[in-house]
Amino acid sequence: MSNHKGPLLKVENLKMHFSLKRGLLDKQDKVVKAVDGVSFEVHKGRTLGIVGESGCGKTTIGKCILRIHQASSGKIFFNGQDILGMSERNFSKIKRKMQMIFQDPYGSLDPRQSAFSIVKETYVEDRKRQPARVVKEEVEKLLVRVGLPVELGIRYPHELSGGQRQRLGIARALATDPELIICDEPVSALDVSIQAQIINLFKQLQRQMQLTYIFIAHDLAVVRHIADRVAVMYLGRFVEHMDAAELYSNPLHPYTKSLLSAIPIIDYDAERQRKRIILKGEVPSPINVPSGCAFHPRCPVASSICAEVVPGLEDIGNGHYVACHHLDLAREMVMIGPQSQKPA
Ligand code: SF4
Repeated sequence: MSNHKGPLLKVENLKMHFSLKRGLLDKQDKVVKAVDGVSFEVHKGRTLGIVGESGCGKTTIGKCILRIHQASSGKIFFNGQDILGMSERNFSKIKRKMQMIFQDPYGSLDPRQSAFSIVKETYVEDRKRQPARVVKEEVEKLLVRVGLPVELGIRYPHELSGGQRQRLGIARALATDPELIICDEPVSALDVSIQAQIINLFKQLQRQMQLTYIFIAHDLAVVRHIADRVAVMYLGRFVEHMDAAELYSNPLHPYTKSLLSAIPIIDYDAERQRKRIILKGEVPSPINVPSGCAFHPRCPVASSICAEVVPGLEDIGNGHYVACHHLDLAREMVMIGPQSQKPA
């Protein structure tokens, strides 16, 4: 156990730029700025939600933390240790304290192994000397911990339901006794009722094991049930970053507001009254990120400065950061009611 007192994970100005090789006649390679200067901290036992549409760079952040991608620049500290600067050998010891859970557990589970064997394989990696009896007991405890009856241990992934497969993916992640789990869209492929069960399982495990999560999702409805802080990401950058309670009571960035306006409201009258903020066009390609504020071609309140100058992420108080030149206009964007979204 580390004596480090600061955040469990600290990311400073992380960039992940991919070079796209062009044809022989093209003079310059294109660069995809998948992550372009992202900074954040996550304290032990807390959850950071990262939200944005597909292709905005959320998963790339997770892969840089696990060194699946080699970050272009920036720093990542885990328990105070600079993990990008350390050797592969030293990192392999730390890596077991960090796990990733994927959207499609089926794709990441070996179809030829039983549920028991899948968890056991990860469990024994650095516990080769443990007696077989102890290994069996510990693997069974992990299955039970995630809500899988021990009898299901003999089944293969294709014999499990989607929810059971995700529970198995979680059990495997827990097998290394991790401190940080990067959950990449872990409930997106599940039915709504099963989503709630898996989110509750994540929360229960966090309470029991003091786990720290980075919870990646494409919509704010899922993240609201689990995150303490939320970062909203658009084309490689954070555009808003704040406590979860502040996000839902005082969203400011026009993109955040558009994501929130897409969440269904259970109250029928409120839902009928509500005006959804429909964004113009699709997310631009990360190969051709628009100049200035990358959101400007779709933003209902953009002005000429937005196309020219990249807005910085400013602290507006209470740990609430927003990157927008026109907070005054953004504040007045209406999410509920039949009026125009843009102030008169
Ligand atoms: Fe919209 Fe301009 Fe703010 Fe970007 S900076 S979100 S384009 S108002």
